[in-house]
Amino acid sequence: MSYPPAFRRPIVLAAALALCASLAAQKKRPTGYSDTPYLPGGKWRVHDGSRPRPPIVTPGTFSSQAKPGKPPSDAIVLFDGTDLSRWEGVNRDGSAKAAGWGLGEGYFESVSDGSLRTKESFGDIQLHVEWAAPAKIVSSSQGRGNSGILIMGLYEVQVLDSYNNVTYADGQAGAVYGQYPPLVNASRPPGEWQVYDIVFEAPRFEGEKLVKPAYYTVFHNGVLLHNRQEALGPMVHRKVAQYGPHPAEAPLALQDHSNPVRYRNIWVRRLDKLQQ
Ligand code: MG
Repeated sequence: MSYPPAFRRPIVLAAALALCASLAAQKKRPTGYSDTPYLPGGKWRVHDGSRPRPPIVTPGTFSSQAKPGKPPSDAIVLFDGTDLSRWEGVNRDGSAKAAGWGLGEGYFESVSDGSLRTKESFGDIQLHVEWAAPAKIVSSSQGRGNSGILIMGLYEVQVLDSYNNVTYADGQAGAVYGQYPPLVNASRPPGEWQVYDIVFEAPRFEGEKLVKPAYYTVFHNGVLLHNRQEALGPMVHRKVAQYGPHPAEAPLALQDHSNPVRYRNIWVRRLDKLQQ
């Protein structure tokens, strides 16, 4: 649409004034308040301008079957597909040995050498793990693609090929092993890469006494399996779990169950350092 010349000038002027008003409004927009009521706890006011802003984290990118994604900027990368330098093997007596799991192209694989554990210890974490059960099906139930994410070496999120594979509910993929079945079975077929995203809150002890239990939140291939599920205690087989005191931080372990399960793109974020 074109306006006669007499009308054009006022339109341009109005647009310029509107832009100025908009910029002025942006400048004046408050970035916080100091006259609002206090939130419970009495530390910060509602919309408190002096409340620390959250740290900036560059988000990661999504993984595909062909290629793992990238971790977020503040992650501790435990395995990027190239080496096992952050891991060690575990002897039967619990002592450390060289990491013996097989390193393939972009992944490592359980090779009946005992558990693998991180050299570093962790407490409260966000954990990202990608795993794949063997493409060739050789057994059934708990004999099929069995491994496990042993947080603190004690608290297992089960890894199992649960694609058209019947086993007990609290032992299938994503179960808090021996305690809670996953809310759903979100398994992909054997051989395909699967993703666990886990938030784990470590238990707290005062001396011998448990003062806060462990909690699991687990996503499997982006699907919620456990929503802040309270743990009964560390993983046990054919027994009811119960807590016993242990250190506040411990290595993350991957279970060797004599099945060649593959892992790639493993990273953690320490959550205990981020409490507000
Ligand atoms: Mg297992």
